[in-house]
Amino acid sequence: MREKNYDAIIIGAGHNGLVTACYLAKAGWKVLVLERRYIVGGACVTEETFPGFKVSTAAYVNSLFRKEIIRDLHLESYGLKILERNPSSFTPFPDGSHLLLGPDPALNHRQIAKFSLRDANAYPAYEAMLERMATVLEPLLTMRPPNLVKPALRDLWGAYQTWKPFQALGSAMSEAFELLTAPARQILDRWFESEALKTTLATDAVIGAMASPSTPGTAYVLFHHVMGETNGKRGVWGYVQGGMGGITQSLAAAARHLNVEIRCDAEVARILFANGTARGVALANGDELVAPVVASNADAQVTFTRLLDQTLLPREFAEAITRINYESASLKINVALAELPDFLACPGREPGAHHRGTIHISPSLDYIEQAFDDAKYGQPSQRPILECTIPSVVDPTVAPLGKHLMSIFVQYAPYKLRGATWDELRETFADRCVALLNEYAPNFQRSVIARQVLTPLDLERMFNLTGGNIFQGAMTMNQLFACRPVPGFADYHTPIRGLYLCGAAAHPGGGVMGAAGANAAKEILRSSGRQVPS
Ligand SMILES: Cc1cc2nc3c(=O)[nH]c(=O)nc-3n(C[C@H](O)[C@H](O)[C@H](O)COP(=O)(O)OP(=O)(O)OC[C@H]3O[C@@H](n4cnc5c(N)ncnc54)[C@H](O)[C@@H]3O)c2cc1C
Repeated sequence: MREKNYDAIIIGAGHNGLVTACYLAKAGWKVLVLERRYIVGGACVTEETFPGFKVSTAAYVNSLFRKEIIRDLHLESYGLKILERNPSSFTPFPDGSHLLLGPDPALNHRQIAKFSLRDANAYPAYEAMLERMATVLEPLLTMRPPNLVKPALRDLWGAYQTWKPFQALGSAMSEAFELLTAPARQILDRWFESEALKTTLATDAVIGAMASPSTPGTAYVLFHHVMGETNGKRGVWGYVQGGMGGITQSLAAAARHLNVEIRCDAEVARILFANGTARGVALANGDELVAPVVASNADAQVTFTRLLDQTLLPREFAEAITRINYESASLKINVALAELPDFLACPGREPGAHHRGTIHISPSLDYIEQAFDDAKYGQPSQRPILECTIPSVVDPTVAPLGKHLMSIFVQYAPYKLRGATWDELRETFADRCVALLNEYAPNFQRSVIARQVLTPLDLERMFNLTGGNIFQGAMTMNQLFACRPVPGFADYHTPIRGLYLCGAAAHPGGGVMGAAGANAAKEILRSSGRQVPS
């Protein structure tokens, strides 16, 4: 069966695919979104995994989602609400001490001073340094990276535009380059002496990465995590009311209002192609849908090796795609709880300040290094790093009255295991994580009503994420900006005319940001001679 009346087809209803669809539809295009799952959202989704609980299956906190997208698409009028978390983090230690951090400078000073007065005094300057860098570098997120392989005149202009913010930093330029390339540990060791503070900050540097804080490039991952804001507050992360699907459900509602057609349970099996040009897609059920523009929200490996015959691609491009690093070591456990964890470091089962933010089980930098050592040799960490969040403390709508919901983001759980498979290790490794948390909160294990364990293999199966990489490709310097997904094609175009990338595989990469989707729409409209509407 052939249908023939769309201006653009979007493969995948992740948040980026939906953003692209909305901006194209706002420009008057007739857009079709095809999603292989039963629900829109990709990795930014809420599902009722346990009866009565609204589980953010994958992504669990927001700060990166672009405020101009919220404004342009009137997402608040479709129900989007971001709830601030204050304090934002709690790190309990085995000796019974703890560190709370958040947007309140007085609280931060008091808390850090418990471990080091020197660090407490240095912390505001560290935050100001990150803020300065973020302000200067943030405009790069929403720009189309220049083509450095075959530069046209506008790429030279783009390269100059890229360079300008660095120039504006003056002598702080070297600090910016350090942030983009160095190990996080190098920077944290220079700024601070307290292990408690350094390990709390370091977890942001390794999220989603198959790397430890002493791996070059991890400072950028740390920096990437301070680039957003919640309700105007830089670097503050929030919960989305009703779970992360609040973002994608509001996007889907905005899209439908703009006459975008969204079909779920509609897996694209092939991109149709003739004379070097994309013509549409073929679905797994055999239906063919035709459009002059196809934008893929799937990752680059899926798009170019599974949906297209690789022999149709220029050899150098096809080879570059096979070189993309999808290494990953992240696992997610979603847990329904009968009661809140009662931490030895902060006793009490009633909601407390320490339950609101991210709870870090990662007592020292060396602990993280050792956890990573296991992963290097193909084993899940003996003592993993846990990042736990309990959204129900801030947003009671996600759990039945009196019950709670916890997300546990775990590292390191390498996708490539030696001597076992994730189907064999899934539950025993999850038991290890539960037992570890129980050391810090002895009521935890018995309070678990139900759990969902998503290994890197499950993330690959569920979301079509190659290697289970949560960012659709590692966020390392050689895979960012003008090199994302591969050098020469960071402008959302591909070697196939009419085929674009519009998801996290493209600049500026992973995280629930929407920037890739919005940038791609802008580029698609520009190529067709239309302007992106605001
Ligand atoms: C476990 C986990 C935790 C995370 N935590 C956070 C967090 O707390 N905060 C944060 O900001 N980011 C987080 N991230 C990262 C963030 O969720 C992703 O980077 C982001 O959601 C990517 O969005 P996307 O729209 O580009 O792609 P995706 O969300 O990957 O969506 C792509 C969509 O395309 C669909 N698709 C793929 N192939 C096909 C096909 N052949 N036919 C039809 N449809 C197809 C997929 O089913 C999917 O719906 C996390 C990710 C994971 C996996």
